[in-house]
This record gives sequence, C-alpha cells and structure tokens, in this order.
Amino acid sequence: MSESIAQRLQQVRQRIRQAELAAGRPPGSVRLLAVSKTHPAADIRCAWAEGQRDFGENYLQEAEEKARELADLAIQWHFIGRIQSNKTRLIATMFSWVHGLSTLKHAQRLNAQRPEHLPPLNVCLQVNTSGEDSKGGLAPEDVAALLAQCAELPRLKIRGLMTIPAAAQTTAEQHPPLRRLRQLRDRLASERLPLETLSMGMSADLEAAVEEGASIVRIGAAIFGPRNYVEREQ
Ligand SMILES: *Cc1c(COP(=O)(O)O)cnc(C)c1O
Repeated sequence: MSESIAQRLQQVRQRIRQAELAAGRPPGSVRLLAVSKTHPAADIRCAWAEGQRDFGENYLQEAEEKARELADLAIQWHFIGRIQSNKTRLIATMFSWVHGLSTLKHAQRLNAQRPEHLPPLNVCLQVNTSGEDSKGGLAPEDVAALLAQCAELPRLKIRGLMTIPAAAQTTAEQHPPLRRLRQLRDRLASERLPLETLSMGMSADLEAAVEEGASIVRIGAAIFGPRNYVEREQ
C-alpha cells in the first residue's frame, strides 16, 4: 500500500519544520503551496481535509475543471504554469496568485482583466537563475525595470520573486541559483516594494530552498505522489 496523501503531507510539513529549525528561521515562516497538477480533485479534497489551503496548478483547462468540482472549498489557487497571452483572462479571474510573470505584456493584460470584485492579483516575477539551462524567466538584470513597470499597475500586487532552477545532481549544486534569487531580492527590495516573497523549492530541493530563504515552497510529488505523464506545454 502506498502512503496516503495525509501521511505524505504530514511528512512534508515535518521536512519544512526541520529545515526552518536548521536554518534558524521561525517555525511557520515558510508557506506550503501544494502543487496538484495532473492529480484529481479528490486528492485536493484529501489535502484540504488535512488543513492545506494553497494549491498550485499549471494547466488552465485542468485547473478550471477542478475548481468547478471544488467550488464548495475556499481554496487559494496559484497559477504556476507558463502564461499565454490568450489565456490571461481566465488566469486573472480564477487565481489569487501568479508565480511566473515575466513580461510587461502579460502584466498589463492581467491588470486590465482582474475582475473589480476581487482583490488585486498577487504576482511574483520569475527570474532565470540558472543561465541557459533555465526553464524561463527574466534575466536578473531585467528584473528591476519590470518591477518598476508592474508597480504602476493597480490591479497587481507585487509580492516578490520566483525561480525554477535547472535540475541539480547534488545538494551542493542546488544552492547557488536559490541564493542568487535571494540576493537579487535583497538588492531590489525597497520600502515601496518589500518583495517579501521568495517562491522557490520543490520536492527535491525543499531543504536547500528553506535554508536560502524561501517563503513559499511549491511541492507536488512529495505530497501527491509521482506524476505518471509526460510534461506538456499547454
Ligand atoms: C510541477 C511544479 C512544481 C512541483 O514540483 P515537484 O517536484 O513535484 O515538487 C513546482 N513548481 C513548478 C513551477 C512546477 O511546475
């Protein structure tokens, strides 16, 4: 028998607590985003029953179907997939957070399409911290300019920075990109834009990310089990 979602969620919370402790960070300073892509609504319901409230999805059609099935739960949905211009209205309507913003065009569309009755959309700018091997995001030297432009968009609330580092072979290799994101944040943070959020850390590098200052970790496989499908572009 494989372990239940409740058990795995408990283990992930334990890992976060241990990592906070090891890093000398206050317990509870890292927020857990449960990445539920490819897993059914019933699995989300299990995690909800254990107190999980933030869920991350990459694929819009799939996310919309699950949100409909789970409309009775006050889930905070986070969009962590690739943004496509012709899909921004649905993103602006359904989600509380967008983690992978990296163009002004997408920022302007999300700002214009965020419904009036909802609070401003929380956004993180995605940064390429791994050079050529990266899965996208802004070059570090371009982040300040887009931050300044996004700060003028009233329906967006800039929360901080996000990164998806290239896969690392060893724990030691996990640290440098995560540290680069934190250092960039420290350089760019201001009174007006405190950039309190560092969205980094996945199942394989959770501990390294917490040590390097992550405030949101995005965890999929360690909670919901492996994804048995080929990663697709939406
Ligand atoms: C799938 C995904 C995750 C979760 O990855 P796991 O290795 O399953 O923990 C985190 N962030 C993003 C952007 C993802 O696409």
